[in-house]
Amino acid sequence: MKYVSTRGLRNLGGFSDVLLMGLAPDGGLAMPERIPAFAPAELESLRGLEYSELAYAVMQPFIDDIPEADLRRMLQATYHPDVFHSNDITPLTRLGDSGLYLLELSNGPSLAFKDIAMQFLGQVFEYVLERRDEHLNILGATSGDTGSAAEYAMLGKARVNVFMLSPHGRMSAFQQAQMFSIHEPNIFNITVQGVFDDCQDLVKEVNSDAGFKARHSIGAVNSINWARVLAQAVYYFKAYFALNLPAGQQADFSVPSGNFGNVFAGYLAKRMGLPIGQLVVASNENDVLHEFFSTGVYRVRKAAQVAQTSSPSMDIGKASNFERYLYLVAGADGVQIRAWWAEVGESRAVDLSDSSHWDAVQASGLVGGRSSHGDRLNTIRRADQRFGRLIDPHTADGLLVGERYARAGVPMVCLETALPAKFEETVREAVSRTPPRPARFEGIEAQPRYFTALENDVAALKAFVVKKLG
Ligand SMILES: *Cc1c(COP(=O)(O)O)cnc(C)c1O
Repeated sequence: MKYVSTRGLRNLGGFSDVLLMGLAPDGGLAMPERIPAFAPAELESLRGLEYSELAYAVMQPFIDDIPEADLRRMLQATYHPDVFHSNDITPLTRLGDSGLYLLELSNGPSLAFKDIAMQFLGQVFEYVLERRDEHLNILGATSGDTGSAAEYAMLGKARVNVFMLSPHGRMSAFQQAQMFSIHEPNIFNITVQGVFDDCQDLVKEVNSDAGFKARHSIGAVNSINWARVLAQAVYYFKAYFALNLPAGQQADFSVPSGNFGNVFAGYLAKRMGLPIGQLVVASNENDVLHEFFSTGVYRVRKAAQVAQTSSPSMDIGKASNFERYLYLVAGADGVQIRAWWAEVGESRAVDLSDSSHWDAVQASGLVGGRSSHGDRLNTIRRADQRFGRLIDPHTADGLLVGERYARAGVPMVCLETALPAKFEETVREAVSRTPPRPARFEGIEAQPRYFTALENDVAALKAFVVKKLG
């Protein structure tokens, strides 16, 4: 499989090349040059496969530059009950006797769905770096979930170091404890005096120094990484088969969304032939995506316009993976994408509402909705009362909007993107009790913390990286 850029550049190489690439040289995102689809009979033959076998069937057509046996071995190591604390890896639970289902994606090491892709990334990075005899120093910024998922995935990897910036004192107590209790020679937690955007700006500044970047093999694991998107497509298949529907019958999915990586993976699954009807894009108060799907206008927000909400992992001003969706909607036309982004560059917005592309958007099955802090609390409370099920604030956004779009006779699968234990404060506000946490996290706040506090200063950050790389 060859990869191309959403902005028109061809020949980006194979899977292993785009794995380590970040943005394409023309600023676009890597996409496979075609999306192979399963014929209905082929799809039926996947029913009943265990998770790692299903992952192989879904992912291998996109990863033909890694020998089959090696890929199979990596997927077996990744999607193992010891890692995800469940034989099903992503168990599906019906909520009461409703048509709503919860797809549990958060039983991995960091208690958020990002583990599912990140754990695979840890395996495949190490493998590709080994084959190329290279090293990688991941530099990232986190406000919570990405950082801990990346660190747990890269624990003990010989060819990867992680330098993770976070805003000093601003993550939840649990998130801080989760990251800072990690004490491994290849993981460096760095807190910065400032907010999340300051951390992200520092990462950008380091990356804009091409010489430093090349000299120290600086890379990233952000949500535009194609391997992450691909790995996430698998659980849509897993959930669909777990519903046990007659062949060809549709299911709908509702996805708490920020950077659009998770829901785009669902769209990929749909393009691969999985009978998905609606893909519900749930936003919080930062409703860029909701606005697009209800008006056809994609209007990006400045960092200062992004509100801090109680579903913080969805606080975005633009959705990085959205470009992949527009690219497919535009019929894989990189010239069109460049034209749209030029408009966004000029006026911060692009209007698709009276074009033929808008018909394609509506035919794609994606629909949007938003929720507020009050909605979130109500939804958490109601899920607890109706179904005896505690959910986290992000999952609540998905459940609320998903229920709005639910159709009679069609299952609505709501993706659980984090465990409530990760966002105790908001859950307590909703139900006046503390959500349970997995035993391995009991008392984690009392463990020693390992991090380095730096000023908001790029020279200090570079000096720290250089010193640690010795
Ligand atoms: C990252 C994250 C999201 C948003 O996912 P995207 O792929 O960026 O749309 C939603 N919920 C939680 C808990 C997350 O960590």
